[in-house]
Amino acid sequence: MSLQQRYEAAFMPNYGVPPLALISGTGLRVTGADGRSYLDFIGGIAVSSLGHAHPALVEAVSAQVAAIAHTSNLFLNEPEILLAEKLLSLVDAPARVFLANSGTEANECALKLAIKYGKTHGRPYIVAMENGFHGRTLGALSLTGKAAIRDQFGPFPIDVRFVPFGDADALKAAVTSECAAVFVEPTQGEAGVVSPPAGYLTAAREICDATGTLLVLDEIQSAIGRTGAWFAHQHEGVVPDVLTLAKGLGGGLPIGACLAFGEHGAIFAKGDHGSTFGGNPVSAAAALAVLTTIEKDGLLANAAEVGEYLTASIEALAHPAVAGVRGRGLWKAIVLHAEDAAALEAALRERGVLANALRPDAVRLAPPLVTTRDDVDAFTTALTGALTACYPPGGRP
Ligand SMILES: *Cc1c(COP(=O)(O)O)cnc(C)c1O
Repeated sequence: MSLQQRYEAAFMPNYGVPPLALISGTGLRVTGADGRSYLDFIGGIAVSSLGHAHPALVEAVSAQVAAIAHTSNLFLNEPEILLAEKLLSLVDAPARVFLANSGTEANECALKLAIKYGKTHGRPYIVAMENGFHGRTLGALSLTGKAAIRDQFGPFPIDVRFVPFGDADALKAAVTSECAAVFVEPTQGEAGVVSPPAGYLTAAREICDATGTLLVLDEIQSAIGRTGAWFAHQHEGVVPDVLTLAKGLGGGLPIGACLAFGEHGAIFAKGDHGSTFGGNPVSAAAALAVLTTIEKDGLLANAAEVGEYLTASIEALAHPAVAGVRGRGLWKAIVLHAEDAAALEAALRERGVLANALRPDAVRLAPPLVTTRDDVDAFTTALTGALTACYPPGGRP
């Protein structure tokens, strides 16, 4: 039986059956179970910040797992402290950290903070964005503004009101002094790497300040250098009240973090929240290696610079099927005029490039922050061939 057949027989069908098994990788190069080498332009969905098998990550994780892999929260460990201190040095205001194991768990922490804040101050509802994505657990799902993944599991016990993303007037109308928190992604990832108009986050900050509402930024996909800054909100100079992180933070090891700023860092009392694995020293050591390597190797600047080159390279193809390129840094969506993203993803894979058809009309790119101009050139060559295969000059095959 093939790996695909065994996967299908053993697993729940929630993902469908992926087209390829991966065996190993170095940098942007991964080897498939089909024996072929691929250029990884999706990075495990914006997770593999340093690429695959980066020596700093391998060393940090190997040393930590050999020293002690788990302490639980009955005991503390130095890697979790070093990581928390490092994160606090990267944000623009004093805060406190909770460490979780995934993005959805980071948002559960943020949601519980918001609920407790709301109960304390007579604020019974929360505002979130249409088409936003915050995760799959029931709390995070109740904030997720996509009917297709949400409605069949509702109704939810939390009063969440949805507003159109990027519309400051709609936000202003929805947020009153009875609102506990606004949950928003600085750029919506799963919705198709969609950015709001310039000034939107600043407007959201002002609306929240005027009403005493918590501004919760879900930067699970957008942070840790993805857009060329540590955090996407730093491009607008906005400081959130609560910030959630995950994906790129662990460089491939599971970790999530929730930061609460100022006095909000003390909303939880002892016993209010917890996680057996949260703060585990192996994931913490991995995240610390990611952050220190980004800093040491200048990967924020690299993401910004190579990201611009990537957009320019795709735009220079001036292919009639391509409507445009969205996104900043090494986080893009190639937007097509037609709903051909799945075919383009497959054609790229045939040409040795991994990307992700995240919308019917958009292919997502989130390559490691170590991506070079040469990698972009290799990608653009494959993209040219893939577009020709999908849109043959004489018409569709
Ligand atoms: C991926 C993602 C999540 C969920 O993270 P998981 O680790 O899959 O639970 C939440 N919010 C955003 C913005 C994401 O991109």
